[in-house]
Formats: sequence, structure tokens, C-alpha cells
Amino acid sequence: MENENIVTNSPCCQDPRKGLSLSEDFGNKTLSPCNTETKYVVIGGGPAGLSGAKALKELGVNFDGFEMGSDFGGLWNIDNPLSTMYESAHLISSKTTTEFLDFPMSDDTPDYPGHKMMYNYFVDYAKNFNLYDHYYFNTKVQKIEKHGEKWKVTVINPDFGTLTYIYKGIIIANGTLSKPNIPVFKGHFTGEIIHSAEYKKASVLQGKKVLVIGAGNSGCDIVVDAVHYAKKADISVRRGYYFVPKYVFGKPSDTVGGKIRLPRRIKQKFDHFLLKWFTGDPQRFGFPKPQYKMYESHPVVNTLILHHIGQGDIKVQKNIDYFDGKIVHFKDGHSEEYDTIVLATGYKLDFPFIDKEHLNWTGMAPELYLNIFHPEYDNLFILGMVEAAGLGWEGRYEQAKLMARYIKGIENNTLKALAFKKKKSGKQPDLSGGYNYLKLERMSFYVHKDTYRRIVTKEAKGMKDEN
Ligand SMILES: Cc1cc2nc3c(=O)[nH]c(=O)nc-3n(C[C@H](O)[C@H](O)[C@H](O)COP(=O)(O)OP(=O)(O)OC[C@H]3O[C@@H](n4cnc5c(N)ncnc54)[C@H](O)[C@@H]3O)c2cc1C
Repeated sequence: MENENIVTNSPCCQDPRKGLSLSEDFGNKTLSPCNTETKYVVIGGGPAGLSGAKALKELGVNFDGFEMGSDFGGLWNIDNPLSTMYESAHLISSKTTTEFLDFPMSDDTPDYPGHKMMYNYFVDYAKNFNLYDHYYFNTKVQKIEKHGEKWKVTVINPDFGTLTYIYKGIIIANGTLSKPNIPVFKGHFTGEIIHSAEYKKASVLQGKKVLVIGAGNSGCDIVVDAVHYAKKADISVRRGYYFVPKYVFGKPSDTVGGKIRLPRRIKQKFDHFLLKWFTGDPQRFGFPKPQYKMYESHPVVNTLILHHIGQGDIKVQKNIDYFDGKIVHFKDGHSEEYDTIVLATGYKLDFPFIDKEHLNWTGMAPELYLNIFHPEYDNLFILGMVEAAGLGWEGRYEQAKLMARYIKGIENNTLKALAFKKKKSGKQPDLSGGYNYLKLERMSFYVHKDTYRRIVTKEAKGMKDEN
């Protein structure tokens, strides 16, 4: 129409990818999407994109997938250009609470597999459910614009250049942990500053005096890495944390006590008590007292940090006051010299290819029903914009199932889908489970796992019968 570069309904090449090995598949230069106006597009091939692809496929909804990396796996594919993985990273949720239920991890997978095993798992998942047939790799979505009722999607790929397609609908699954959050500090640091997003391996810390800022899950892993390579390994924190060990009573901690449902307040108290019993009081190790109750922020699952602080390998420093050359001044008036600062200061939500106005963005995040559904559009969805302790891949797949059933229901004009359409344009149910989550940007899409999964699966079940 208005753009002469738009590829409309290009003839479908006979899909030559079927049955090819991965390397042959990627080497094929002749492929390009076809008949796109009748299809949905999934952006991203991480756990959320894979979930979306499988759910659409199962219901016979036509789609293509674009992944800017060279394979599936999302950030678990450490070679992916946007991956924020590092060599020492492992799951922090255990395998049984994390895996897709219809694709369990093999018996010989350890409780907390490393990123390479996870990447292989996602590749196997995609092969098992024939999802390679739908995806275009090394293909980055540059821009998404409205095109009447449909969407104009511009992609760039080293083989076929920049092309624009019209798609019937879009499913955004580009992840939430790729755009670094870089805080502004007073003064100027003349040593090296990196964000944890760029950190890949501990050997870069060899012989350096290292300060990690922030004690989230990545910050704790990195400072523990530093112990084995750096000349000095410190961590600066501005708030207190609850440190959950990977094992309690010899079992992965997230598998213990799951069957016992306690009221929220009692659970917070009881688990805090249990935690103190196992890990002691982090204040003894120099951490501030948390100004929030347990589960009101994402838990830090790390057994080693307190162990290394206890051995004197890691020192806990206060919040940063200012930098002066290589000297870091902390809020308690104390100062020390460092060569390298690692900012483990988290990530910001980022959907750089689409205007915020299309995502109903209010405040710190898009305001979408169940974090998935736009109040007005019936052909734009986000998958994976959800954070919760222990949601796992199955929680992401449940999102995808609900979305796919809604798409199918709307196509078929079913009563239940029409009722849900009304619901999604209204008020969001309370997804907090009564927890008073910290008012941080990264918590703006945080939900209480059980509450969220209960609502999502109930809605999906409701729409199942009519499709
Ligand atoms: C060190 C670390 C440990 C973690 N441990 C756990 C854990 O134990 N349990 C857990 O549940 N979660 C964990 N997570 C959270 C992690 O975000 C999820 O596991 C999961 O990867 C989220 O899946 P996703 O598909 O939403 O996003 P991602 O895995 O980030 O995948 C998004 C994909 O979209 C692609 N993409 C982005 N933009 C574009 C574009 N413009 N065009 C085309 N493709 C694009 C990216 O290349 C990427 O492949 C961890 C995260 C980190 C960093």
C-alpha cells in the first residue's frame, strides 16, 4: 500500500527447512515469510516465545517467528546478542518447578542445571514440537506500526536485508532482562565500569579490585565468581535482602513445603523464621535489615555468598556516596580503591520496536490484562512480561495457552471469548496475593505466582471447550 517495500503474500517457498539439521537450516538463504497477512508473528525465541509458538501451533493458528539470535533459547543461549547470561549461571529455581510439564527435563539433569543445559533443553523442546519450521533466525524486528487493523512489521536479516511484512497480529516475547538499568552516581570513576549484562566470564576479573553494586541474583553470582579471580571482591548494597539457600533439608528449597498452604502472614513469618534457622541473620554479615517482609521482593537464591562473607572473601559495603578517580566513597564515610565496578543494578522493560502508545503504557510498565492482553487490540499480546518467584516455564506456557485460546475464540466468535474481551478491557484482578511488593521499576510487573497461575489457568480452561 503506502510502502512499496512491503512484501505482501509472497509465494510460499516449499518449506525446505523440514527435516534439515540445524546448521543446514541456518545456512539456507532462500527463505522468507509468505502469506503473512493471514498469520501472527511471534517476536523472540526464548521460553516465552517458544511457549507462544507451541500454543499457537496446537490450535492451528498460523504464525511465523522472528529471533534475532542464531537459535532458540532466549537469554539461556549465551551466544545470543542480547543474552545476559554468564558462564557460571545456573537456574535459581529448581528443575522440577521450572520445566515445561509436557517436556520434563531428563532424569540425569541436576537440580539446578547450568545455562548450557538449559539452552540444549530449549533446542530439544523446539525440535520435539516442530517449532523450527516456523522460525527465522538472525532476524531482528526493527519496527512495528499499525496498518489498518493489521500490523506492519519491519525486519532486518543479514541475508535478505530489510523487509516489511503485513501481519494479522503480533505476539511480543522479547524478554524483560536485556536493557541494562544504569544508575547515575555522583562524581566520576576512572576505573572500568561494566554492567552485569556485559559480564560473561570470571577471568575478566583476574587480579582486579572488584566492587559489585547490587545484591540481586546476578550480583551475588558475580561477586562469588570474583572471589576466585579478583584481588579483592566487595559488594555494595543499599537495602537488605533475604538469602534463600539452594537446599534445605537436603532438597531444593523451592520444592519444600509447597503442598502446605499457609495464610500469607503466617507463611511470611514461618518462612522467615525457617530461613534464619538455615542461613542466620544477614545483618551479622553486614547487610542492612530489610525494610520489607519476606516475599515482598524477588528472593535471592544463593548459598555461597554468605559462606564467602563468613570466610572473609567478600566484604559488604554500604550504599555508594560518590566516586573520585578510582576511589569509591560509601555512605558511611568509608572509602576504598577499586579497578572494576560491576553494576548489577538490574534491567528496564524495553520494547524498542513499537510505540509506547500501542502498549497501553502507564507509569513503569504496559498496563495489560493479566500482563498479556491489550484492553482494546485483539491482535497484540505480550508474553513473558511477568515476574514471580517460581513461575517457571510452565507459568509462561499457561500464559501462551490462554492467549492462543483467546485468538482462536475471537476468530470463531465464541461467547466465552467475547465475554473475556469485555473483561480484558476492564479492571485488572488483584494479582499480588495480598503481598505489598516493593515499589521498584522491576517489580511493576511482579505477580504472586499462585494467584496468577490460578486466574490464568481458570480463564484458559473456560475458553477451552468452545475451541
Ligand atoms: C542469570 C539469570 C538467571 C535466571 N534464572 C532463572 C531461573 O532460575 N528461573 C526462571 O524462571 N527464570 C530465570 N531467569 C529469568 C529469565 O528471564 C527467564 O528464565 C526467561 O529467559 C525469560 O524468557 P523470555 O522468553 O521471556 O525472554 P528471553 O529469554 O530474554 O528471550 C527473549 C528472546 O527475544 C529475542 N529478541 C529480543 N528482541 C528481539 C527483536 N527485536 N527481534 C527478534 N528477536 C528479539 C532475544 O534475542 C531472545 O532470544 C534468569 C535470568 C538470568 C539473567
